[in-house]
Amino acid sequence: MSFHSDNETGVAPEIFAALAAVNDGTVMPYGNDQLTASLNESLSRLFGTEVNAFLVVTGTASNVLALSTMTPPYGGIYCHEKAHILVDECGGPEFYTGGARLLPMTGADGKLHADDLAVVLREQRDDVHYIKPSALSLTQVTESGTVYTPEDVTDLCRLAKDKGMHVHMDGTRFANAVASLGCHPADITWKAGVDVLSFGATKNGAIAAEAVVFFNQTLAQDFSARRKRGGHLPSKMRFMAAQFNAYLENDRWLGYATHANRMAEKLAVELNEVPDVEFSYPVQANLIFADMPQAMLKAIQDTGYQPDYWLWENGRCEVRFVTAFNTREQDIEQLMKVIRSL
Ligand SMILES: *Cc1c(COP(=O)(O)O)cnc(C)c1O
Repeated sequence: MSFHSDNETGVAPEIFAALAAVNDGTVMPYGNDQLTASLNESLSRLFGTEVNAFLVVTGTASNVLALSTMTPPYGGIYCHEKAHILVDECGGPEFYTGGARLLPMTGADGKLHADDLAVVLREQRDDVHYIKPSALSLTQVTESGTVYTPEDVTDLCRLAKDKGMHVHMDGTRFANAVASLGCHPADITWKAGVDVLSFGATKNGAIAAEAVVFFNQTLAQDFSARRKRGGHLPSKMRFMAAQFNAYLENDRWLGYATHANRMAEKLAVELNEVPDVEFSYPVQANLIFADMPQAMLKAIQDTGYQPDYWLWENGRCEVRFVTAFNTREQDIEQLMKVIRSL
């Protein structure tokens, strides 16, 4: 365990077993199998409304294909300045939307705030010289490890809808957000105004399975073609479906995330007692950003742990610790032993 990210983990045993279970025999390709067909039903049950879901194998594909349904090439997509779609997808959103522009905004705690969005949208002129506001993309859990409450999402979506925009949610860590809020998954999605959710499983126990979940059926209409044309229709789809089904079964998605969040909470409580360590953001899910002396980072690295970090000029650094579905208490104790020894 190195706390670098939740995608350096292995696969949850239940999900691995589900893969083995669909390995025998022949099955129709490209999602024309029973398991894939059952996914819409399971997800509709989970969200309490009718959804149309499509599997892809990366979170980036999920985000960029979702965004491509909600903006013309001359449109604009509002997002946080730290958003994965802006910082970590190599221009994928621009590529898949045919050139739509990402419009980054600042916002405390890694979140967009309704007051700020209201000002930005008010200043946006309905004029041929301007980019047309088309979409709003929210990351839940955010890149900073914080969580939008149902009220936050509702307020932001209302502003977007008033402007005729669609709303996308990058839910790579959606499970960790639901586990943190203790809400119904509907409360932070369709009931709040979200049109399309990128529902992640890869960082929470799967190998490669992400679902693009459409609450807005109109936007889903040509998605099959977009996915295929974009090169994201796996022919052996049953293996993606098997992962996602196992993920949903017995609420494992929530169980894994609850565990990851609990481990982060434990680590945060212990780090909080260390003098000279400060949190950059409130710890609300499974990501911790700790501001600490560089010597402390060095000691952590010397033991083999490889966290993500940013060095500052003042001899301090910000270290990101990410916990996962399989983080053990002893991993945290080992890490804390190193930190406390300083
Ligand atoms: C990891 C991540 C993704 C998806 O990344 P892939 O590497 O393409 O699977 C998307 N959004 C956020 C916030 C992420 O952390």
